[in-house]
This record gives sequence, structure tokens and C-alpha cells, in this order.
Amino acid sequence: MNPQESPETILAGWRFQWFGWLPLEQVQDPDWCPEDLVLLVNYLQETPIVMLPVSGRPLVCSLCGEIIGKNGAIQSDGVFIWPISLGHRVKKHHLRLPTNFIEHIRNRNYVIREEMLSLEEEDHIEMLQLQIERYLLDQ
Ligand SMILES: [Zn+2]
Repeated sequence: MNPQESPETILAGWRFQWFGWLPLEQVQDPDWCPEDLVLLVNYLQETPIVMLPVSGRPLVCSLCGEIIGKNGAIQSDGVFIWPISLGHRVKKHHLRLPTNFIEHIRNRNYVIREEMLSLEEEDHIEMLQLQIERYLLDQ
């Protein structure tokens, strides 16, 4: 990835179905403040955790010290996957979301699908494996 690229450029061209693992400074944009930011953040934060490492130590935000959740936890709405820190970083630290991810959330009217909320743990694991395979194919 070209280090000269602005967050806006990187995120406009984002074509993956994962997000939230880039260094914060690459995708931080204090000027980004869409009208539906609260709805986007709620969607990110309320989507179920699909993978929780056994150790599950608390994840403390390195920027503000807030406890975000369990370290290593991954959330998914069945299409995108992201780390538990993403909602917090968007809400508190001006992390900008990729265009395709925003459009996806808006297309769903900020509603988390019922089937995601009622998944059993083994369904989560199966789904996550599919998503990781998709992620690896993107590389
Ligand atoms: Zn923080």
C-alpha cells in the first residue's frame, strides 16, 4: 500500500470484506463526519462477536485507556468482519470507514440481520472460516 495515499483515497478504493486492522494513522480522518455516524457506530458495536479467543483478556484502548472488550474478539454481520476495537475507534478516534463498508451498512438500513443474532457458536465458527478463506483469496 502506498504510504502517500490519503485515508480518503485508500478507503474509496477498498474492495475487501474486512476492515479495522490497518494502522490508525493511515485511516484516521478528523474531517470525516457523515450524518449517520451514530447509526454506523451502533451497527458496528451491536453486531455479534463471532470469534472470542480463549484467553480473552480485556482490550484497553491505547489512545484513551477505555476498556473496549475482550482482546482478539472479532465481529461479523455475515458479510464483513472487523475487530472489536473498530466501533470504538470510529466513535472516539476519527477512524474513517471504507466506502464499500458504509454502503453495505446503509443498504441494510443499519439493521443487523436476525439470523446473525440467533446464530449458535458452531455456526459462527463455520461462517468465520468461510470469511477467512475469502480474505485470503483477496490477498
Ligand atoms: Zn480510545
